[in-house]
Amino acid sequence: DQGLAEVDPEIAAVLDGELARQRGTLEMIASENFVPRAVLQAQGSVLTNKYAEGYPGRRYYGGCEQVDIAEELALSRAKDLFGAEYANVQPHSGATANAAVLHALIKPGDKIMGLELAHGGHLTHGMKINFSGKLYEVAAYGVDPETMRLDMDKVREQALAERPDVLIGGWSAYPRHLDFEAFRSIADEVGAKLWVDMAHFAGLVAAGLHPNPVPHADVVSSTVHKTIGGPRSGFILAREEYGKKLDSAVFPGQQGGPLMHVIAAKAVSFKLAGSEGFKARQERVLSGARIIADRLTADDVRAAGVDVLTGGTDVHLVLVDLRKSDLDGQQAEDLLHAAGITVNRNAVPFDPRPPRVTSGLRIGTPALATRGFGDTEFTEVAEIIATALKGGADVDALRARVQRLADDFPLYPDLQQY
Ligand code: PLP
Repeated sequence: DQGLAEVDPEIAAVLDGELARQRGTLEMIASENFVPRAVLQAQGSVLTNKYAEGYPGRRYYGGCEQVDIAEELALSRAKDLFGAEYANVQPHSGATANAAVLHALIKPGDKIMGLELAHGGHLTHGMKINFSGKLYEVAAYGVDPETMRLDMDKVREQALAERPDVLIGGWSAYPRHLDFEAFRSIADEVGAKLWVDMAHFAGLVAAGLHPNPVPHADVVSSTVHKTIGGPRSGFILAREEYGKKLDSAVFPGQQGGPLMHVIAAKAVSFKLAGSEGFKARQERVLSGARIIADRLTADDVRAAGVDVLTGGTDVHLVLVDLRKSDLDGQQAEDLLHAAGITVNRNAVPFDPRPPRVTSGLRIGTPALATRGFGDTEFTEVAEIIATALKGGADVDALRARVQRLADDFPLYPDLQQY
């Protein structure tokens, strides 16, 4: 049996090239992370061979005794980690988890209300050409144009006017905590179910460094690959009363066979997320984001028309506001890319530039914290970003500084080349 390099040298070259890219650049896409080798091993395992439609102990295939153990471990660890009564670890991704949540809670034609996409919401919270916008009636709340934060009194007023069947709390780009108590009381007042999508901040919740939505929401969905730093996939937590409906919404409602290799990798990730080392890492994530926000709100940076939405951050990301800058989001992304820092451009609320260009950047610290960065390194990263965004910088000099940081914190040092 031949290995990848013999069977398919072109794909082997892609894997080599990607490993080199990840090693040689600074990954600051807020939704990305580096999984530990244990997760790579579980995911790249023989469990990929197994069909296991159904749930542990009630499968539609024989030979599930080993994968049942993996799924039971993932389930109990997920519930313990977040204090949930029920879990489902089968969703292939965050988006399919979200589709299953809506499938379980409401019928097509019912109304959902979440954060507007252009203000940091997610596609699955009601974007027009997403399933959520096609199957359900959509209302959206936005941030306050002055503070760029959610004003829960306004959300309440709007919810009273719109009377959604599901109220959604959660975001892909919002730098502050959500008020889950207020969401709960609004949902109760208008007779809506409360669904929180914690895909971005789940790792912070697991570490006890962010309010936990589980005690307040009817259903909570998440990804595993962002702040948790696990395999690319989703999961759902809920009160027990929704368990049957959610199970059947995921399978057979939404998916066929679960990806047992990914579920095993989720179990590993949930185990690691309960450790002291994980908490310390998430503290570095938060501290790094604050260091970057502080640097980018200093006078010399603001003088170049660069600002930070809401003036800071409570979470793992910083949203840079370039509405007053000569640089647009695309140019800023390209500039940082040239310096060896990978980020994504991102629309800011009320963005005057088109969605493909944007007036913002989303900068996240989870992947670098996983790589080992602490305050000293994040201070240097913040300085490099500030220098680039102020304009007129020597990009080669910035690239050399990035390379030094990358060299000092080798990524997957023992990983074999393919
Ligand atoms: N929910 C939120 C809030 C997200 O930010 C994302 C990912 O961007 C998702 C769901 C979807 O996750 P996936 O890309 O795994 O489908």
